[in-house]
Amino acid sequence: MNPDVHERACRLIDAWHIEGISASEREWLEAHLAECAACRARARANQRALQMVRSNSVSVSPELVSITQARVHWRARELRENQARVRALWISCVLSWLLGAVTAPLLWQAIAWVGRRFDISQTIWVAAFALCWLAPASGVAAIVAWKLSHATGEVNGTSSWER
Ligand SMILES: [Zn+2]
Repeated sequence: MNPDVHERACRLIDAWHIEGISASEREWLEAHLAECAACRARARANQRALQMVRSNSVSVSPELVSITQARVHWRARELRENQARVRALWISCVLSWLLGAVTAPLLWQAIAWVGRRFDISQTIWVAAFALCWLAPASGVAAIVAWKLSHATGEVNGTSSWER
């Protein structure tokens, strides 16, 4: 058989189920397939492949979908809560500093009075004042810094929920 005949058959087989072929082409192809095993095998393989492509819809289990949705919602809520917590810490830090600034003169006078009253060395009561004034704000600042590094770690890697 002329090789051009098989080539034409191959072209028609490929076109058959995709773009379609004319009635006369189809008639010619069916006649060729009836007598050519190689082209018949090719036509069958083509049809099987097409059936697989058409029937192969990706199916995802509803359970997986709901679990994924729940995880996304959970993570979003966790991130929102973290932001709210960090904001609250910043506010308390600022309030602490403001309160410290406002009360500093009173604290200074009180500690100076105690220092003079009990004849304590000035170095000691000045150090006591510094400690009293800096301790609360430093504590809050340390907590904020720790929280921020913790939150950044969660964003970059794993959350406490995934661990
Ligand atoms: Zn053939």
